[in-house]
Amino acid sequence: MSTPMVRAEGVRKHFGKLEVLKGIDLTVERGQVCCLLGPSGSGKSTFLRCINHLERIDGGRLAVDGQLVGYRRQGDKLHELREREVAERRRDIGMVFQRFNLFPHMTAVENVMEAPVKVGSVPKAEAREQAQELLTRVGLGDRAHHYPAQLSGGQQQRVAIARALAMRPKLMLFDEPTSALDPELVGDVLDVMRQLAADGMTMVVVTHEIGFAREVGDTAVFMDEGVVVEAGDPRRVLVDPEQERTRAFLSKVL
Ligand code: ADP
Ligand code: MG
Repeated sequence: MSTPMVRAEGVRKHFGKLEVLKGIDLTVERGQVCCLLGPSGSGKSTFLRCINHLERIDGGRLAVDGQLVGYRRQGDKLHELREREVAERRRDIGMVFQRFNLFPHMTAVENVMEAPVKVGSVPKAEAREQAQELLTRVGLGDRAHHYPAQLSGGQQQRVAIARALAMRPKLMLFDEPTSALDPELVGDVLDVMRQLAADGMTMVVVTHEIGFAREVGDTAVFMDEGVVVEAGDPRRVLVDPEQERTRAFLSKVL
C-alpha cells in the first residue's frame, strides 16, 4: 500500500478550555475524495486548518503525504519546521474557502498567476499561459480579464479553485465552497470539483451537499462535537447510517 495522502491518528485540538477535536482518526488515500460532514461547530474547519498548517495540534499524529505536519525528521529526531519550511509544505496544499477572497484589484488571470510568479518564480509569460489554461479548465476561459466584482459568486469561486490549482498541489482542501453561493450557482462549482476528482486529485471536502458527497465521495466522514461519529462509503453513511446522530443530521440537511 502506498502512503496515504492524509493520516490522522487521535488528533486533538483545543482553544483554551474548549476541546474542539477530541481524537480524530481519518485516512485519505491518494486520488480519493473524502467528504466531511457535520453540524456547525463540530470542528470541521479546524481539522482542515490543522492539515494545512494553520493550526497546531495538541495531541495525536497528523501526516500529509507521509510527513508529520509541522515537523521535519532528521535521523530519528523530529525538528519543528521553520517558517520557510512550513511555507514550502503549504505550497503542496490548495485550499478553497467559503468566501472566495480573490484580490479585488487583479483580474481573474492575474489572481491565478500571482502565486506561481511570486513564490514559484515561474516566468510571467509562462504563468499567464498556465493561468489561462486553468481558467479554461474551470469554464472561465473567456473571463480572464474580468475583475472579481464583474464576476458572479460562482465564477469567483471557480477562479479561486483555479488559483489554488496554479501551484500544482497534491492535495486540495475545500471548506464549504458552495455555502455562500446562490443556489443556481452551486452546480457549476460542484461540476468543476467533480471534474477535478475525476482527474485524480486527492480532495478533502467539507460540504453540506449530500448529493455531491454521495456521487463523488470515496468516503464520507460524519463529525459531531469533535469526534468522528461514523465514516465509510458515502452510499452507506449518507443513505443508511448506523448512528442516530448521523441520521438526525441528515434529516435536517436533506
Ligand atoms: P465547523 O467548521 O465544524 O463549524 P469549527 O472548526 O469552525 O467548526 O469550530 C469548532 C469550534 O471551535 C467552535 O466552537 C468554534 O467557535 C471554535 N473555534 C474555532 N476556531 C477558534 C479559535 N481560533 N479560537 C477559539 N475558538 C475557536
Ligand atoms: Mg466550518
